[in-house]
Amino acid sequence: MTISSNLLKILVCPVCKDKPIHIESEDFLVCSICGLKYAVINDIPVMFVEDENISAS
Ligand SMILES: [Zn+2]
Repeated sequence: MTISSNLLKILVCPVCKDKPIHIESEDFLVCSICGLKYAVINDIPVMFVEDENISAS
């Protein structure tokens, strides 16, 4: 699967607002800063952070 370059340009990690890296071989996005992974479903990145992935402060 591929994600359009235009879409990748506007994607940001919802946690740290950095651009995630698309790992094409495994078809997910990973944020290089916080390390969160985002699934790509039907070529659409799911930039959604599940509650259990956020450590309570
Ligand atoms: Zn991040």
